[in-house]
Amino acid sequence: MNVKENLSRIEQEIQAACSRSGRDRSDIHIIAVTKYVTVNRALEAVDAGICHIGENRLQGALEKWEACRGQAFLHFVGSLQTRKVKDIVDKYDYFHSLDRLGLAREFQKRSPENHIVPCMVQVNVSGEDSKAGVAPQDLEGFIEDLKNYPAVQVAGLMTMAPFEEDPEQTRPVFRKLRELRDDIQKQQYSHAPCNHLSMGMSNDFAVAVEEGATFVRIGTDLVGTRHG
Ligand SMILES: *Cc1c(COP(=O)(O)O)cnc(C)c1O
Repeated sequence: MNVKENLSRIEQEIQAACSRSGRDRSDIHIIAVTKYVTVNRALEAVDAGICHIGENRLQGALEKWEACRGQAFLHFVGSLQTRKVKDIVDKYDYFHSLDRLGLAREFQKRSPENHIVPCMVQVNVSGEDSKAGVAPQDLEGFIEDLKNYPAVQVAGLMTMAPFEEDPEQTRPVFRKLRELRDDIQKQQYSHAPCNHLSMGMSNDFAVAVEEGATFVRIGTDLVGTRHG
């Protein structure tokens, strides 16, 4: 399938989820996760009207930056080794996997002067050992500590739900992330406006939209896993 056809199907599902939940379609942004596909496929997504591209590894991130910069917002969605921050800090527009202070310290150190990096704090809502992220009970303290790194702005929260055959089963995870986001917003931290919820992938984005996602990260269903 070409990206345009995939996108129109996904678009319909998002609009249906918006009407079920009374949400405004314009509050939801689709990130095409291009980690399995070529630069050409990423450019096809841009041509289809996608304006957010997501990558989770350094090499792919640099390739897609070369090809797509200036044409789309670039999102780094994977876990990032601290020493690699310097390679993308001035290239990527959003970081979705802030899960430790060491990373914030490195952003602070490597950011060009007055540069602010919008980050999502990754939360391990499901508590699976295999998943990265701050534990929900540690989130507020973690976000308080981030005020010491003015280069880092907490733009929102991110989570990955466990894979479920029935996506409905992921709902409690997404709902919990929204509740955590609402709690942080109430604190009115100037370094943590925390407006965004980055949640929902190919399997479960419709449920995530119903629960308040502002960024859905879609790879397989949108650009596929190995297109030329
Ligand atoms: C790969 C990946 C996605 C996209 O997953 P699909 O199931 O292919 O849609 C989303 N978020 C992150 C962090 C990923 O690594």
